[in-house]
Amino acid sequence: MIIVMQPGSTEEQRRDVIREIEALEYKAHVIYGVERTVVACVGHEDKTPLEHLRSMPGVEQAIPILKPFKLASLETSPERTEIDLGDGVTIGGRRLTLIAGPGAVESEEQVHAAARAVKAGGAQILRATVFQPGENPYMFQGLREDGLRLLSEAARSNGLKTLTEVASIRDLDICLEYADVLMLGARNCANFPLLQEIGQVRKPVALKRGMAIKLSEYLQAAEHVLAGGNYELILCERGIRTFEDATRFTLDLNAVPALRAQTHLPVIVDPSHGTGDRRLVGPMAKAAVACGADGLMLEAHPDPQNAELDGPQSLAPNEFEALVAELRKVAAAVDREIV
Ligand code: PEP
Ligand code: MN
Repeated sequence: MIIVMQPGSTEEQRRDVIREIEALEYKAHVIYGVERTVVACVGHEDKTPLEHLRSMPGVEQAIPILKPFKLASLETSPERTEIDLGDGVTIGGRRLTLIAGPGAVESEEQVHAAARAVKAGGAQILRATVFQPGENPYMFQGLREDGLRLLSEAARSNGLKTLTEVASIRDLDICLEYADVLMLGARNCANFPLLQEIGQVRKPVALKRGMAIKLSEYLQAAEHVLAGGNYELILCERGIRTFEDATRFTLDLNAVPALRAQTHLPVIVDPSHGTGDRRLVGPMAKAAVACGADGLMLEAHPDPQNAELDGPQSLAPNEFEALVAELRKVAAAVDREIV
């Protein structure tokens, strides 16, 4: 942490700052500049006890110097991560990845119809949840293990990879057995025991951004997974909560270039949850590709009107196909491609 003193700060204010730093058992290194004095604090990895120094009299700024997310940082590994799922499916790199499918597996017929539709439309990975309980306890709660089997069969018979949500440590083993990519949902972005458990497995993981998680916190959540040794991690912006309630969430596309400036991890975007409205999904999907996303996660359902979960934000098969055709043009304009 670097404490930058205000230009007119007094010797006494400086001494108070140093005294406070030393009381917290850090060492204070004073650097006298022409206009400003800077006090560098060293000694412990955890700089959070120093946060409050920024509000002391005479202090202009407190700037952390050591990024708390070392393994996720672009400084640590300047080469961007590319995850290889086999059979020509990758996440990261020039080729964009399309992950699509229904909110949840509902039946064998439904998930097979979804798989056929997203495959025909150009997706590489079939998504659907089976363990995620609905927000309300009386809502559809998922087909659990049966759903996982159906998802995996539907994907395999259509030449797709699978992605599903691990909602608790309890379900991790069974998800590992069936899924090619695990997903950690927005509500688990700060579930540190689950993040740590996911760090122990050797299977690609898409970590969704929590709806009230700052990017710095998001990168630290990612660091929990990386610190366990699981480096096949994908970040997914899916909208945050703001004062705006005209849409389900506010899709924070700033996050895409902002994350890519700080991390080598692939960044994908989920405009389905990000907007909650299928009419807004296409425009925001195109914007996501334009601003540098490495892929998209899209909800697509064979019959959105009758979907058990998230129907209003799910694309019908023809809408999905039409959108991918548009996305190819946007991708080409930013020197990316969709195969
Ligand atoms: C999902 O993708 O099915 C999902 C539940 O998303 P989120 O965790 O972003 O709400
Ligand atoms: Mn959903």
